[in-house]
Amino acid sequence: MKEKCGIFGIYAPGKNVAEIIFYGLQALQHRGQESAGIAVSDGENILVFKDLGLVSQVFNQQSLAPLQGYIGIGHTRYSTKGSNIWKNSQPLYRMFRDESFAIAHNGNLINVDDLRKEQVGKGIAFETTTDTEVIASLIESSTEDNIEAAIKDAVKRLRGSYSLVILTRDKLIGVRDPHGFRPMILGTLDGNYIIASETCALDIIDARFIREIDPGEIMVIDQNGLRSQMVLSVDRISMCVFELIYFARPDSYIHGKNMFEVRHKMGQELAKESPADADIVIPVPDSGIPAAIGYSQASRIPYAEGFIKNRYIGRTFIQPHQEAREIGIRLKLNPLKEVVRGKRLVVVDDSIVRGNTSRQIVKALYNAGAREVHMRISSPPLLYPCYYGIDMATKKEFVANHRTLEDIRKYLNVESLKYLSIEGLVRAIGEPKDKFCFACFNGDYPVPIPEGLLFDKYSIDKEEKASSNV
Ligand code: SF4
Repeated sequence: MKEKCGIFGIYAPGKNVAEIIFYGLQALQHRGQESAGIAVSDGENILVFKDLGLVSQVFNQQSLAPLQGYIGIGHTRYSTKGSNIWKNSQPLYRMFRDESFAIAHNGNLINVDDLRKEQVGKGIAFETTTDTEVIASLIESSTEDNIEAAIKDAVKRLRGSYSLVILTRDKLIGVRDPHGFRPMILGTLDGNYIIASETCALDIIDARFIREIDPGEIMVIDQNGLRSQMVLSVDRISMCVFELIYFARPDSYIHGKNMFEVRHKMGQELAKESPADADIVIPVPDSGIPAAIGYSQASRIPYAEGFIKNRYIGRTFIQPHQEAREIGIRLKLNPLKEVVRGKRLVVVDDSIVRGNTSRQIVKALYNAGAREVHMRISSPPLLYPCYYGIDMATKKEFVANHRTLEDIRKYLNVESLKYLSIEGLVRAIGEPKDKFCFACFNGDYPVPIPEGLLFDKYSIDKEEKASSNV
């Protein structure tokens, strides 16, 4: 599963902000690894530099040096298959009348096809396949007479998830969709304002967290200070619960809660709901670690590191046959034989998507001498695809789709398999369920999904729709 982007923005008169953005983006690298970009303004002109690759591959002293300016935005991007091309990297640079602006986006619009068709009908051409360009085009073609009004005009047309940072000649503007799907926070560094996807981007530059940007809020930062407006009507807040389960960095805070702590509680709830008779608890690193520690503490079964993770390999290539896939997983995770040999293991992971990786992990543990493997998952079974900015799988690809728990257990070849319930997840989070999106678990999509998307893009069969809640 991949998050589709991290965003960062800063307004800091008297400072050169490119290097600060560079560090902020490095802290947000987990939100997108395929391209990175920075746009800055010196009050007159906007300059953009972006390329494919990790933040540290795209930027060096040479590429940062020309980026002179006191306002700026940055972006790390993960693209869906086939669209990892330079043109689609962000920030995008565009014009509103005779004023330039740059825009960066985290999220996914569900009405993008309609909006694009409408714009094409007006004779507007598109250079990229991104939602972001559609948003930029709505701003460009707005009939409002200033860019701030044009942005407000444009975002009222958007449906789905969007956290945006927009750079104009002399302003930094942040917009969060009225459902608040993706996280977005406000911070301060030496009295200057910062907008970022997550609080971990503030820590790295020693900035201070002020507050979360509210769903539906538009924030404008310029020489007059900070202005906040609620221009988008909020009917249902539905933050992505997967940010709490997996995506946000464990050192980030959402709703005042530390993500490591929340995941730790998920592990505790999982242990209460689904105990196991075992010798040690091991995590699937790194994402299973907080929940495994929580499971161990609640169950009083000792915690151990059962795998060594190779941190130096990037994404593995598409592997055409089983043997190559198994090597791909062994490259990333290798069991510690001395730890697992002869033991009854509780293996804790945050989620199972297709099941291939889990199956290989279990096989590797048995090959290393494990006596029993009890799999525990700190989230409910994934059953429905995400349309709001997480690239996971089609409905048909989910291992839990149309399979009973017993079928999945047999497929994974484990002694026992248990998932955390939605109720257990809500208890671990400690907030009302209706503040979050749980659609990938229960099919209750907070923003209705157009039929065309349901049937085509994500291969949900028509007969399946009858049994779903959408
Ligand atoms: S469907 Fe799942 S991954 Fe997508 S926004 Fe909702 S909770 Fe997050």
